[in-house]
Amino acid sequence: MKIKIMTGDSSKDSKITKTIWGEKEKAAWLANQSVKRSYQHEVLAKIEALKGDFDVSQYGFLSYDPQRYPLFMLKTRNWNENNRNILITGGVHGYETSGVQGALRFLESAVLKYTDNFNFVVAPCVSPWGYETINRWDTAAIDPNRSFYANSPAESSAALMKKIADLNLDYTAHFDLHETTDTDNSVFMPALAQRDGTELVIWEIPDGFYLVGDTENPVDDFQTAIIHAVKKVTHIAPADEAGCIIGEPVTQNGVINYATKKLALCTGFSQSEFVTTTEVYPDSPKVTDEDCILAQVAAISGGLDYLLDIYPPDSKRKKVE
Ligand SMILES: [Zn+2]
Repeated sequence: MKIKIMTGDSSKDSKITKTIWGEKEKAAWLANQSVKRSYQHEVLAKIEALKGDFDVSQYGFLSYDPQRYPLFMLKTRNWNENNRNILITGGVHGYETSGVQGALRFLESAVLKYTDNFNFVVAPCVSPWGYETINRWDTAAIDPNRSFYANSPAESSAALMKKIADLNLDYTAHFDLHETTDTDNSVFMPALAQRDGTELVIWEIPDGFYLVGDTENPVDDFQTAIIHAVKKVTHIAPADEAGCIIGEPVTQNGVINYATKKLALCTGFSQSEFVTTTEVYPDSPKVTDEDCILAQVAAISGGLDYLLDIYPPDSKRKKVE
């Protein structure tokens, strides 16, 4: 259901009278943010522990605090040129906890089942300031997941794109791990409407897991396989009475598509053959934090199992010229 709310007091004129945030308003917003959890303890320590099994490299830092916010990528240690390459990104929206912890848990618990057949490139926490302060935006009040385009103003998006460009690999699949939270409606969308001086348009937060594919390359069977795998761990979001999830028509159980490239979403930039954005719902009374992490692991595993089915191990990777 669409819930349309006008911001501000003079709602009838809100579209034209609102002031778009300038530097002063952005600085005031930033001053109100505070660290609520530790990137060091909850993320960097886990990356450190994975160094035995993966090549870990720093690909950048957030200039807001370079010491506190180094950016790390993990790659399969015994890289096999004949294997297909898989890209996994988490924490593009730093506040979406299971995106970060799910990427790490996949590496800790499930990746070995797949390393004979796939090479992995994993950026588990793209936006570490957002992780620590539980924020959707970065310190410049920019949404990193609308900023995957050339000369991006979002530092974390730009750093990831540069690293991926430097690696110069082709990817069979890209999993971008996200959550949809109640605070999307109560905190982040209202802030967006204020920042841009637009009316607040929000949708009912769906109760359950769903996927966002690419309108231009929906790869329906891949999404189906992921939904089937996740269904064993957590419930799938039903469509609303209009047949939609967050305003987009459901194309199959638990799946909607976005124009990922046009919207400059993370899955739009990697040129992967199969892309999906996972959306775990952590605020459901039916799930624990652990369920959410396991749902992310199940999503990746379900997608990889599908790829093994359609590309049997002995076929290996086509050489892309
Ligand atoms: Zn997100």
